[in-house]
Amino acid sequence: MNDTKENILVVEDDMQIRNFICYSVRNEGYNCKIAVTGTQAINAVLNESVDVIILDLGLPDIDGIDVINEIRQWSEIPIIVVSARDQDKEKAYALDMGADDYLTKPFSSTELLARIRVALRHVKRRGNSIKQTVIQVGGLRLDMDKHLVFLDEKEVHMTPMEYSLLSLLLKNRGKVVTTAAIIKELWGPGYGQDTQALRTLMAGLRRKIELNPAKPRYIMTEIGVGYRIVEE
Ligand code: CA
Repeated sequence: MNDTKENILVVEDDMQIRNFICYSVRNEGYNCKIAVTGTQAINAVLNESVDVIILDLGLPDIDGIDVINEIRQWSEIPIIVVSARDQDKEKAYALDMGADDYLTKPFSSTELLARIRVALRHVKRRGNSIKQTVIQVGGLRLDMDKHLVFLDEKEVHMTPMEYSLLSLLLKNRGKVVTTAAIIKELWGPGYGQDTQALRTLMAGLRRKIELNPAKPRYIMTEIGVGYRIVEE
């Protein structure tokens, strides 16, 4: 049965954090592979079977961002970035460079395993040839064929922009989507970094789908990075 386990590659030069991650993933029944440097990480992805990468951004040899860039030349394998709390800009940059998600140190084993599950589910969905046209999260349902949104079985009227924003987040449910990625998708690449329009749009969307927009249960703000819609 051993070879059917998913392989998690942990790229981390800090032994304590590495051991913590490996202990957590092994406890959950995954295999844990280890790389201490960026070069080792790239070699592991090239030569071994790896399903998810947990990547520390501060590595002794090459920058974690460069590791992402290199791997993204030839692989779509999920990369979950690990960074310190004061590195919001770096986190957002890593995501925009092709990382799938991030964890902020210190993180719990529960958070780590939730991120891994989301990453593995997204891979499965990507490999699934049947296109999903209805996405349901809690009481929120998006019907992409009919372009309709329902909340607790009641149709919610959306503007085209609100619909685009909600459907982008739902397609990436469980994962953070960066502010830059949302702006690029909704307003186009020439729009720049003006986040005010997005904040206004988000406020309007939350008023329609959240019981209490100040305490959202669907769309979470990831401060300094972007937004994440819950997965279940
Ligand atoms: Ca480090």
